[in-house]
Amino acid sequence: MKNNSKIHILGGGPAGVATSYYASQKKINSVIYEASSAIGGNCKTIKLDDFYFDLGAHRFHDKNENVTNEIKKILGNQLLKVHSPSKIFYKNNYLDFPLRIFNVLTTLKMNIGLKIVYENFLNQLKTFKSPNTFEEVAYQNYGKTLSKLFLMNYTEKLWGESSNKLLPSIAGGRLKNLNLKSIIAELFFNQKSGSKHLDGEFWYPKFGFGTIFESMKNSPYQEFFLNSSVTRLIHDGKKITKIEINQSKVINVNQIVSTLPINLLIKFLYPVVDEKLLMIANSLKFRGLKLCVLMLDRPYFSDNASIYFPDKKIPFTRIYEPKNRSKFTAPNDKTCIVAEVPYKPEKSNINNQELLDQIVSILEQKKMLKKSEVLTTKVYDLPFAYPILDLEVKEKLNILFKFLSRFKNLHLIGRNANFEYQHTHDIFKNSNYLIEKISKN
Ligand SMILES: Cc1cc2nc3c(=O)[nH]c(=O)nc-3n(C[C@H](O)[C@H](O)[C@H](O)COP(=O)(O)OP(=O)(O)OC[C@H]3O[C@@H](n4cnc5c(N)ncnc54)[C@H](O)[C@@H]3O)c2cc1C
Repeated sequence: MKNNSKIHILGGGPAGVATSYYASQKKINSVIYEASSAIGGNCKTIKLDDFYFDLGAHRFHDKNENVTNEIKKILGNQLLKVHSPSKIFYKNNYLDFPLRIFNVLTTLKMNIGLKIVYENFLNQLKTFKSPNTFEEVAYQNYGKTLSKLFLMNYTEKLWGESSNKLLPSIAGGRLKNLNLKSIIAELFFNQKSGSKHLDGEFWYPKFGFGTIFESMKNSPYQEFFLNSSVTRLIHDGKKITKIEINQSKVINVNQIVSTLPINLLIKFLYPVVDEKLLMIANSLKFRGLKLCVLMLDRPYFSDNASIYFPDKKIPFTRIYEPKNRSKFTAPNDKTCIVAEVPYKPEKSNINNQELLDQIVSILEQKKMLKKSEVLTTKVYDLPFAYPILDLEVKEKLNILFKFLSRFKNLHLIGRNANFEYQHTHDIFKNSNYLIEKISKN
């Protein structure tokens, strides 16, 4: 890459910021165009009065040693090692998350418990073909009964799709826990097994997940333009030559990194792409999330990082309490909880106040809080929370990526740009790799 040229980055979420950070480490200039008024994307931390909370239950997974070391370097003593397990709320009982057979057996009726043990032992003797759907992964890992009780309903509520129409990758590494060794260890020795993050051990910044990205934008090689929506990518068929910002300013570009949702990117190409490609891009769907925040006049709501609610009659999938990630996120005598409510962005007519009232009323019924303890409420919208990975996605993406590969200076990075279930550690790894590649050009 020539010394005086810069990388133009579309979107200032984790992928955009990580790309600009790794570029700055190599003394490469970059400029980020971000539509909203702050960087961080879906990983922002919001400060409201004396409370800090993230846009969704975020934590840093220690899954890639190099990335973890980089985060430790960036945050220093602001990064906390947390131990805070999560629970599943089922018929007024709390079960361990991820599911543990001993715990399940002591909570469910005897006949159901025996069926679950039988199915899981039988599973150990079977040889399975590689699973094609989430439903198959769940059955292979937990058996039918357990899957139907806890996994299918939760998954279908979260993704808004039947679990036999979703790809196995939506499990995100969470369904690897019930093998013969773990069943025996738990049944006969009541021992826990499984990976660290599944057991509730993770890293978390003192003042919220978003501070990771806030701490990565301090180099003179980085430039940030906020409130700058990309509205067009102008191309000559082989390269992206210019970008248009806020439907007015046009800028010449050399290397360009897009973290925008892939359907938007295709829509923004000018001259416009043919109708068939546009239709494919439009058919890719995202799951939206309403984040309903309740500030409470009590020191703690629970002692869990998150509580999962598989029951489909309850509108939220999960409640998390930032204070159980870092005690610095709320005053000593108060706490805050965030309920995650999935929705279809293309069909949304949800009334936020009605939703909040419904959440408070359910939590009162379950004796989890009193209405009088609620100090303030707020609702945030994430229309691009999760790319919906259904069975047709692979074929559609192949067509779109093949088409985009003609633009030799365009690089896609991030969760919605790649339409993949990625976490921060994946994004950091990919951004670092991309900058290595670009710097050699
Ligand atoms: C509820 C929830 C929980 C999660 N938990 C974890 C977790 O525990 N750990 C973890 O590592 N990850 C977690 N994730 C995933 C993580 O949030 C994503 O991996 C990450 O946000 C993806 O970053 P990104 O930059 O690819 O996209 P985004 O965060 O979506 O950022 C994209 C950015 O592009 C901007 N943009 C969009 N359109 C335009 C435009 N036209 N012009 C300019 N800018 C534009 C947006 O405003 C946004 O800032 C979770 C996600 C959710 C929804």
